[in-house]
Amino acid sequence: MKENKLTLSLDKMGIQYSDYQLEQLERYYEMLIERNEVMNLTSITEYNDVLIKHFADSLSIMQFTDFSTGKDKELSQGDGLDDNVTDILDIGTGAGFPGIPLKIFFPEKGICLVDSTEKKMNFVGDVCDELGLNNISLLVGRAEELAHQNEFRGQFQYVVSRAVASLSVLTELSLAFLKKGGHFVAYKSSMINEELDAAQNAIRTMGGKVEKVESFTIPESDFERSLVFIRKGLDTPKQYPRKASAFKKNPL
Ligand code: SAH
Repeated sequence: MKENKLTLSLDKMGIQYSDYQLEQLERYYEMLIERNEVMNLTSITEYNDVLIKHFADSLSIMQFTDFSTGKDKELSQGDGLDDNVTDILDIGTGAGFPGIPLKIFFPEKGICLVDSTEKKMNFVGDVCDELGLNNISLLVGRAEELAHQNEFRGQFQYVVSRAVASLSVLTELSLAFLKKGGHFVAYKSSMINEELDAAQNAIRTMGGKVEKVESFTIPESDFERSLVFIRKGLDTPKQYPRKASAFKKNPL
């Protein structure tokens, strides 16, 4: 097995990997760089930067959550969810982060990737074909609209999202998709306190509760990350999420 920044970083986070998973990520890297020449997918292109800031970062959630059992590693509270149907939704996946690396590491899990930009989802579709990923749904659309469709509302055990909106807006976009007892995990910068305060009303309104915030540095780098874990304990009122014009002008 070839040692690189990614393997060293995953080792330090206690995340296990196979040669095959590393090969899939390598191919993903090549496709990302190739397609980035003709469309704007990422500003991070240097090899080691991609390994850390896209791959290790996307996977860093595995330090705290084992998607294969659906159990939180630390809390392991019985949340009444069926362990076998851990479905994950990635809102605003862009070029596939964190959703594609998570799918590579949990190939048996159903995962749904959403982005409003069709071109980006076309790229993500090509990656899925090339890497042989299946049981994966790709949706071009706006989260605030999809969240009102029965097919998606209240269906997921996990929602994840990175670099899409403020925590308040993200909470409004995400919680309606969750089953009761499911978790929304927001990938946020290390300076999270102010954003967390500003999101309190949205979290309460949408039926959620902050369970914990994990702040850490991605090993093999000085890249800081906070993961905010919000558990949905109550039903989300039907009127949410609102239209983009409403939540942009007047966040909860
Ligand atoms: N999560 C990726 C991309 C972040 S860029 C990463 O971390 O690299 C933000 C992405 O969110 C963009 O691709 C944009 O099209 C998408 N997006 C923003 N608002 C959205 C919404 N309301 N519904 C769906 N996608 C949205």
